[in-house]
Amino acid sequence: MKTKIIQVDPASFEEEVLAEPAELIRNGKLVAFPTETVYGLGANALDPSACDRIFDAKGRPHDNPLIVHVYRPDDCRDFAYCEEYPVFEKIASRFMPGPITVIMRKKSLIPDTVTVGLDTVALRCPVHPVARALIRLSGVPIAAPSANRSGRPSPTSAQHVWEDMNGRIPCIIDGGNCSVGVESTVVALKEDGIHLLRPGAVTPEMLEELGERVILSKAVLSAVTPDQKVESPGMKYRHYAPKAPCTMVEGTDEDVLSFFAKKKKEGCGILCFEEDLASIGKSDFVLTFGKKNDKEGQAYALFDALRRFDRLELPHIYARKTDETSIGLAVTNRLLRACAFDVIRV
Ligand code: AMP
Ligand code: MG
Repeated sequence: MKTKIIQVDPASFEEEVLAEPAELIRNGKLVAFPTETVYGLGANALDPSACDRIFDAKGRPHDNPLIVHVYRPDDCRDFAYCEEYPVFEKIASRFMPGPITVIMRKKSLIPDTVTVGLDTVALRCPVHPVARALIRLSGVPIAAPSANRSGRPSPTSAQHVWEDMNGRIPCIIDGGNCSVGVESTVVALKEDGIHLLRPGAVTPEMLEELGERVILSKAVLSAVTPDQKVESPGMKYRHYAPKAPCTMVEGTDEDVLSFFAKKKKEGCGILCFEEDLASIGKSDFVLTFGKKNDKEGQAYALFDALRRFDRLELPHIYARKTDETSIGLAVTNRLLRACAFDVIRV
């Protein structure tokens, strides 16, 4: 299959450029599109065979459900029993459209292919103008996981999508780099509070401001064993895995940097903060992901750095430990998964 790329400037575009991809979605085909978090691989969420194509193109396990993207926050009501969740109203008015996904009891309109037979559906209303225009012009909700091959880092540019999906899908909309860089915050609404299943740009601190109890799922910062019951099927998988084994390194700046300098000499990959370069020195194997105190910058750069490492032949990668507050929690969660939860103290 030939993969067409359509360039769109999110800051200023004619909707006409999206007519063809919207038509593809309506006809049961796949379109990769930019969102504020990462690129999505979209299909008509109401068409089971279109959604099946997502699993095929990604090589996604068939027990991992898809997020359904809607045009307006209120459209969630068509697909889930939102009225059963008083806190939904607060979340929707404060954070939607935006980088948050809410899991609620599904209505029958949503096919089992999307939810892999669960009685809940994950709903998100993106804020990215291209994503929103595509959903509106398609006239259907769009089921979309991240547009990477399963097990690869999520794509934050059209180039990343091309690397994974060229020849597998008919169309990629290139809207430049994703501004957030990590996937949406995923929450499940339960009697005892808001369960945070996946951290993202809507942070635990922001959710707490709603005056609700926020319960961090154990799987956010620790590994899930194969026999453990998980709240979200995606937690089971070793996501974001670079080709070389990866270890997160804890310790004082001084100790970590001297450890990195030693590992650099051994030919290992180093993932560090920008200011660390002064001490470690530049090399093709030393990649940075933002400044030490710029957690947004780290989120923005992380997946691109992980993909760069994959183009190199490395025996091992050592990464800086990241802060766990605000969006740093999302960065730490993704990096820990890339490291298969391997952390050492030096
Ligand atoms: P992705 O779209 O690849 O970023 O992943 C979507 C995430 O949402 C995965 O971790 C899924 O397991 C999770 N998810 C989607 N639908 C549900 C659901 N109904 N219940 C629990 N988790 C869900
Ligand atoms: Mg994904």
